[in-house]
Amino acid sequence: MGKTGGKGLSLARRLYASRTLGLILGLLCVGAAMYPLDPAPWVWGLMVINGVFWPHVAYQWARRSPVPYHAEHRNLLVDAFLGGVWVAAMQFNPLPSAATLAMMAMNNVAIGGLRFMLAGAAAQVLGIGAGLVVFAPAFVPETSQFQLYACLPLLCLYPMALGWICFRQASTLGRHKRELLALSRTDSLTGLLNHGAWKDQLEVEFQRCKRQHQGGAIALIDIDHFKAINDTYGHVAGDIVLRQLSKMLKQNLRATDVAGRYGGDEFCVILPDLALDHAAVAMDALRDRFATLGYEQSPALEVSLSIGLAAFNPAHSEAMLWLNDADQALYEAKSTGRNRVICSGDGTSRHELLDSV
Ligand code: GH3
Ligand code: MG
Repeated sequence: MGKTGGKGLSLARRLYASRTLGLILGLLCVGAAMYPLDPAPWVWGLMVINGVFWPHVAYQWARRSPVPYHAEHRNLLVDAFLGGVWVAAMQFNPLPSAATLAMMAMNNVAIGGLRFMLAGAAAQVLGIGAGLVVFAPAFVPETSQFQLYACLPLLCLYPMALGWICFRQASTLGRHKRELLALSRTDSLTGLLNHGAWKDQLEVEFQRCKRQHQGGAIALIDIDHFKAINDTYGHVAGDIVLRQLSKMLKQNLRATDVAGRYGGDEFCVILPDLALDHAAVAMDALRDRFATLGYEQSPALEVSLSIGLAAFNPAHSEAMLWLNDADQALYEAKSTGRNRVICSGDGTSRHELLDSV
């Protein structure tokens, strides 16, 4: 069995549809031009082979070739060559000739750009030369009304079909572009924003707070002794913990909050329009809930979080300083015993902060 994969298979499928339509409409057009010339039966036979059977042969040929993309380029040159042959056979009847050559050129430029269109034009010229050798050379620059009507389906339907194929292609490309963009902004393990994407959001939030004189907070969340969890329970268990934390963030934050994975076992959250004390309450509740989670595969596993919080400070000139505040707070949470929420600025833990409210 021949090979049915490879680069350009989708191109071969697309061309199969457009070639089948284009050549059957082309057969009508060329047939109308040839009819008054009373061609020999073998010429009619060739016309039918080209117009009806060749698209299927071309598709199978491309599909079974190791690189369908290259095979289709060859097939398109064959199309162009045969188009040239029929132009000479039609004795250069203007409308069918122009329609045949122009539709093929449109196809070629859509597939391979200007270079390929020129290659196709060269193949058409060669085909015309071959046609002049095979058929009696003649030049009859006249198109009857019957021939004009016979060309209309090709002139109307084929550009529409090609336009539709190009539109679908552009839509698919647009969708792929959006999917790739989303992937490039997503952390693959947790589905949260990745480092770069979250920092972009931080910059946006920082500018918004400055512009609108709004408050807000950010949190840096780090899993305590995560290395030891990996070492004791394995990296798979470590990954489960990371996913659990991201799931909890998704479920417990407001729709406007923006969570990301900063890297490794560190997560980050933007809490827009939230006062620092309220943010501390929310983060402490999260810390509390996370500490009570059970793990089916590792029942003895206990996990705690250290969280550093920082409020938006209008005196800061850039978002990185805001992040730095949260980082300092996280450092303090780690250095003062872990499993706690620390707010930037005064070094108070969440419990102390609540006492003072
Ligand atoms: P601390 O309490 O001070 O935060 O210590 P820690 O052990 O949590 O922090 P440390 O920075 O020493 O170790 C973090 C570990 O996280 C080291 C790294 O192997 C592990 N890690 C980073 N990314 C992943 C990941 O995607 N999956 C797993 N399972 N482990 C990861
Ligand atoms: Mg850690």
